[in-house]
Amino acid sequence: MEQALRPRIGVNKDTQFFWDGLKGGKLLIQHCKNCDQLQHPPGACCKHCQSFELDALESCGRGVIHSFVRMHHPIQPPFEAGHPIILVQLEEGTRIIAGLINSTPEQVRIGERVKLTITRCDDEVTLALFEPA
Ligand code: ZN
Repeated sequence: MEQALRPRIGVNKDTQFFWDGLKGGKLLIQHCKNCDQLQHPPGACCKHCQSFELDALESCGRGVIHSFVRMHHPIQPPFEAGHPIILVQLEEGTRIIAGLINSTPEQVRIGERVKLTITRCDDEVTLALFEPA
C-alpha cells in the first residue's frame, strides 16, 4: 500500500522565497526594509506599514512553544491522531506554525525550547518542522 503524502504546499509569488529557502536549507522570514518589522506568513506588503519594500532574513531556527494544538479529528493520513501542531516564538521575535517531531503528544509543553529541522518530505514538499531542543 502506498504511503499517503503530506498536503501540497501553497506557493505563490509572495511565498516562493520561503519555500525556495527551505529547499536550500534556510528558514527565511520576511522583513520590511521600511519599518524593520518581521512578518510570517509572508505577504505582498508589510502588515505593519503597508510598504512593498520587503526582503528576507535567515532565522536561527531556535525558539519556544508559545501555544499548541493536538490534531485528533479527522484522522488524515499521513498524520496520526494527536499529532502536535505548535506555534513557535522564534528568537528573532516573530512566530511560525509548524509540526513537532521527535516528541509525543503527551510531552508537548508551552515554553518548551525547540529547534528547526528542515525536512524534505518528497520531491515537491520541504517543510520547516521543529523538535525539542
Ligand atoms: Zn513595514
